[in-house]
Amino acid sequence: MITRDRVVQTFLDLVAIDSPSGDEDRIAAELERRLRALGLQAAQDAAGNVLARLEGAGEPLLLSAHMDTVEPGRGIKPRWDGPDIIRSDGTTILGADNKAGCAVILEVLQSLIEDGGSHRPVEVAISRGEEVGLVGAANMDYSRISARVAIVIDSGGPPSSIQGQAPYHYTCDIEVHGRSAHAGLEPEKGIPAITIAAEIVAGLPRAASTAKPPATSASSAAASSATPFPTTASSRQSSAPWSKKSRNHRPQRAPPSRPRPRAPPRRPHRGPAGHGLSRLPARTR
Ligand SMILES: [Zn+2]
Repeated sequence: MITRDRVVQTFLDLVAIDSPSGDEDRIAAELERRLRALGLQAAQDAAGNVLARLEGAGEPLLLSAHMDTVEPGRGIKPRWDGPDIIRSDGTTILGADNKAGCAVILEVLQSLIEDGGSHRPVEVAISRGEEVGLVGAANMDYSRISARVAIVIDSGGPPSSIQGQAPYHYTCDIEVHGRSAHAGLEPEKGIPAITIAAEIVAGLPRAASTAKPPATSASSAAASSATPFPTTASSRQSSAPWSKKSRNHRPQRAPPSRPRPRAPPRRPHRGPAGHGLSRLPARTR
């Protein structure tokens, strides 16, 4: 059973251990000691993250928090300030981010063990260096975690709130290859890599908070497309010499409503009659 006084005391004990990012050895050792005292298999991975497992039946569930705090976070002196409020003395942070999460995980484990009922296997991952760029999470030994579902106890808002999504980013290295073609003999077969790259960038979805309705926004249309690198209708209809052929490899999507600049009109050819260039688009000459 969850015991209020016990979880509060655990929290007070944990915040009394200095653990600014990069200086987590003491708190890591203490968390490992507490987890082992509960009977769990607990150890630090090569990055110093504390990993543990409580055996159970069924699909494992991962509980996660981070052990480091921001500055000024040394010599924290917590004090009770009313029945439901704990503050620092004002000279430091309190360290609730994320010692509160650590205390909750310890209390949940202890409660499960004391209650003695059946439960899922519970895995624990308490990371280092979260406040300076998720360093511990990035270097965590994930081979020691089998859970496919995790609860990360580290967010603002009321304690009962759950965040189902969070900002994230992907980093991609994209190499774009065009297709070369002789400018005089077969320009229609050429595909400039820079044009493809530009369309990829233009088609990237924007953050949901800034995206416009699909009917009025090219970027939203791109975001709602099933294709990662959509082309635009206007580019497919472009008068560029490569537009009429050689685009079969490109995914297609609904045309955007955003107006795009038109290509300049072709100039009439004024070369001598019978010259081969007379059959080619003006811009290739
Ligand atoms: Zn945090």
